[in-house]
Amino acid sequence: MSKQEETLKKIISHCKEYGFVFQSSEIYDGLSAVYDYGHNGTELRKNIREYWWKAMVQMHDNIVGIDSAIFMHPKVWKASGHVDGFNDPMIDNKDSKKRYRADQLLEDRIAKYEKDGKTDKAAGLQKAMDDALESNDLAALKALIEENEIACPISGTRNWTEVRQFNLMYSTQMGSLAEDADEVYLRPETAQGIFVNFLNVQKTARMKIPFGIAQTGKAFRNEIIARQFIMRMREFEQMEMQFFVRPGTEMEWFTYWKAYRMAWHKNLGIPDAKYRFHEHTKLAHYANAAVDIEYDFPFGFKEVEGIHSRTDFDLKQHQEFSGKKLQYFDPEINQNYVPYVVETSIGLDRMFLLLMFHCLEEETLESENQTDTRTVLRLPAILAPVKLAVFPLVKKDGLPEKAKEIIDMFRFDYTCMYEEKDAIGKRYRRQDAIGTPFCVTVDYDTMENNTVTLRYRDSMEQKRVAIDELSTILADEINWKKVLNFQL
Ligand code: ATP
Repeated sequence: MSKQEETLKKIISHCKEYGFVFQSSEIYDGLSAVYDYGHNGTELRKNIREYWWKAMVQMHDNIVGIDSAIFMHPKVWKASGHVDGFNDPMIDNKDSKKRYRADQLLEDRIAKYEKDGKTDKAAGLQKAMDDALESNDLAALKALIEENEIACPISGTRNWTEVRQFNLMYSTQMGSLAEDADEVYLRPETAQGIFVNFLNVQKTARMKIPFGIAQTGKAFRNEIIARQFIMRMREFEQMEMQFFVRPGTEMEWFTYWKAYRMAWHKNLGIPDAKYRFHEHTKLAHYANAAVDIEYDFPFGFKEVEGIHSRTDFDLKQHQEFSGKKLQYFDPEINQNYVPYVVETSIGLDRMFLLLMFHCLEEETLESENQTDTRTVLRLPAILAPVKLAVFPLVKKDGLPEKAKEIIDMFRFDYTCMYEEKDAIGKRYRRQDAIGTPFCVTVDYDTMENNTVTLRYRDSMEQKRVAIDELSTILADEINWKKVLNFQL
């Protein structure tokens, strides 16, 4: 097993063991690329979502949120181009019967050429692939797979079918009788719910351009190959914001959002070297700029977020397909126009995985006469599923009651956890593994002088502090301001 496979395996088993992520329908042997979140995973996800929401909506006077339905009128997806164009080119290996995305087979080969120092070959293949994708030339994609002697990793053969297009949208029927049922889709992105509500929101929230609409919610894609755990799922959550601007000002806003979104990532304390921008050279026909924010996963730099300048494409399409005007009257220039849109779109689950990779550490602890290891999840305190764990040293003499009193002081502000089982050292380790930044131990001295031991997750430092001091110490460390302080 390669090192990267081993790291991923460790993450998957850690996520399961500590209640972060479970395979969906596990007792029925699971459903491929669909996952459930456990008690700690749900808290972590909620906190990441909240960080996004606060950064986008609460920190901007000109951004408001919506929560649109997953089902939308089927014409929405015709207008958006998803019915005709939301396809991946796929190819099957006739021997292993495995299905692959043709472009991903080629991308893997490009990465291999790069790794082997064959940069000219890599660039040549990249260009040929981009051209074939742009002109939708499926035969050319197949030819590239053959010319580059790409074999199926399972069967090892080059016995391929033709390349075919495969639509990624799930459809179902609306209505009780099959005869009069209408085909509806599970949304493959949350953005269209924002576009079709553009005027509703603009009018009711009395927004003036430039302004944004933000939304978080589930999206569904029938991914041909689902890889790398929650990196590529068939049901996932997106956090998207569409920013409506005056035509001609979109590049200014594109630059702003590019910087702001990167700052959002780095404010979590993740070093610069782990992130990079990937500028799109080949743009979709409706975009005039696009960039991905990529993170350095063990399997290479991969997209976590996209920032796209989408011109007036979506609103114009909906205008045409619905027959309703989607225009804005700009009092400053006394003109009606269809606004341009700059969007930011990040996958919540992918961000979750990023944090797991970045924060999970197996640390070797050297003491005088022994070496020990501990598993610690160094999440930013504000995102941790449990912020404060309180332990009584022993289960008697009023210590449990005192510990619960402390929990009751803090449960209004933080997710807290009470634990009395096992030795204190073991309890600390369990909290380290789920990322709890602070543990408090109540002992016999507490009963005398109202002081407790406060233990810090990262340094493992233990301090004796008065119970009265706890709230200031915690408020200082577990604080939205720490991550929402944007300096661009
Ligand atoms: P990719 O190239 O990885 O398929 P994309 O370019 O299709 O991604 P977008 O449509 O721009 O992705 O979606 C925005 C974000 O949603 C992505 O940056 C990613 O974080 C997330 N995302 C997209 N598809 C999935 C998926 N199948 N599972 C989990 N997250 C996803």
